[in-house]
Amino acid sequence: MNVASWLERTARMHPDNAALLLGSTVVADYRKFRQEAASVAAGLIAAGVAPGDRVAIFAGNSVHYLRALYGIWYAGGVAVPINAKLHANEAAWIIENADCKLVFVEPRSRPALDKHSPAITSLDDVELAPLMDMAPVDAPIAREASDLCWLFYTSGTTGRPKGVMITHGNVAAMTACYFIDVDTVEAEDAALYAAPLSHGAGLYNFMHVMRGARHVIPASGGFRPDEIFSLARALGRIHMFAAPTMVKRLVAASPGKEDTAGIKTIVYGGGPMYLADIIDATRVLGPRLAQIYGQGESPMTITAMAKSMVSDRNHPRWRDRLASVGRAQSLMEVGVIGSQGQSLPCGTVGEVVVRGPAVMAGYWRNPDATAAALQDGWLRTGDMGSFDQDGFLTLKDRSKDVIISGGTNIYPREVEEALLSHEAVADVSVIGAPDDEWGEIVVAYVVLRDGATADEGALDAHCLESIARFKRPKAYVFMDRLPKNNYGKVLKTALREDWRQRA
Ligand code: AMP
Repeated sequence: MNVASWLERTARMHPDNAALLLGSTVVADYRKFRQEAASVAAGLIAAGVAPGDRVAIFAGNSVHYLRALYGIWYAGGVAVPINAKLHANEAAWIIENADCKLVFVEPRSRPALDKHSPAITSLDDVELAPLMDMAPVDAPIAREASDLCWLFYTSGTTGRPKGVMITHGNVAAMTACYFIDVDTVEAEDAALYAAPLSHGAGLYNFMHVMRGARHVIPASGGFRPDEIFSLARALGRIHMFAAPTMVKRLVAASPGKEDTAGIKTIVYGGGPMYLADIIDATRVLGPRLAQIYGQGESPMTITAMAKSMVSDRNHPRWRDRLASVGRAQSLMEVGVIGSQGQSLPCGTVGEVVVRGPAVMAGYWRNPDATAAALQDGWLRTGDMGSFDQDGFLTLKDRSKDVIISGGTNIYPREVEEALLSHEAVADVSVIGAPDDEWGEIVVAYVVLRDGATADEGALDAHCLESIARFKRPKAYVFMDRLPKNNYGKVLKTALREDWRQRA
């Protein structure tokens, strides 16, 4: 099977459905999208790309991005999406590590890559248009479920990134789980790509291609709340992935009910969504939020919580459930294990493991890292969590983020939740800092809301109301904003470094 066969099938069944949109303007229906992708494939084959060859895309979001992706898959190639915000040298490292045959780039990054790359095609009208005019291939080149489809480099905070090998079969399982556990998709829907296509957001294209729905690239190419609300008004039934910080910004910018009416679904995930924030979001954005917990190594496919559960305020355990990441997705097995690898009962915190058809084939040309991540068929996620009686998984932290103070485990997330429920606190991140007496102490980095005031004493008193005494931060640092990566994740390594310098 080849994921491009979904585009082939949709284009035959619904050729006139709108497919690609730039802002609210339709630039291709499914007949045209299919032809353009099949023509790009012909161009790639003419350039020497054989089935299984890697082709990188180093670019921000654009309509061409989707044409390039499907062109690669029609040709039987493997897409290597590279975060557009990386430095050219970092991109060059990935291109070389993946042994790419060809690279699609934004014209502006071309000069920096020219000396590194085998063959470069600019993702613009000048260089892509002639490809799109070539005689198209008849059909996608046949692939096995075990063949590589998407080689995604993890944004590891230390060391070199690793190439996560996602097969056509992995994508099929992920897509099936989405329909079973997360949401329905209809032809009238519109996938809005406000987060980078090179990351998780790009994976939502598959369900929307399968159903003949619209794919919308915002004219700004990125995330602008007012633009999103205006597209929602103009297009209706929009679907988007939003990292927790993006959800917060949407909530803050939401002008009112008529603007949210055009939003069908917002899938949140990619990092912890704090209870206070998700409660706010369900109030302001309505019953439109669904959650997914996944990681590059099991993309979008570990646990999920459908919209009906996220918004079921009358359920007696609604708050507990909202603080969780939902239940195991239907084609996957999810477990929690102890330090000896033993399976742990409900209510006990351990490392989350997952196995099933969406789990990666391994890391590209990196058997040691593969052996460490995949053990006895299970993927070690590095996340700590516990199940409740109903099968809802609550994450505590990444295993490496757990703070051990006086021999006791403290999960930063719990302390962060407690601090965030204080009205003056806008954002917070908690780390463990080395300490002679305790081994580690809890340090809180806090961003206050505009105009709000709260000192250490007030925050300490507030923590005492909701968490155990020993979990309270022993030190506070107040900041204007927290250091975050391109996907909105707080860089705890930067905070640890900041603390080291202060100490
Ligand atoms: P990445 O591989 O960059 O997508 O990062 C995956 C990691 O993000 C996971 O291992 C979790 O630590 C975190 N993560 C992903 N989804 C969620 C979620 N819904 N809630 C909390 N953390 C999440």
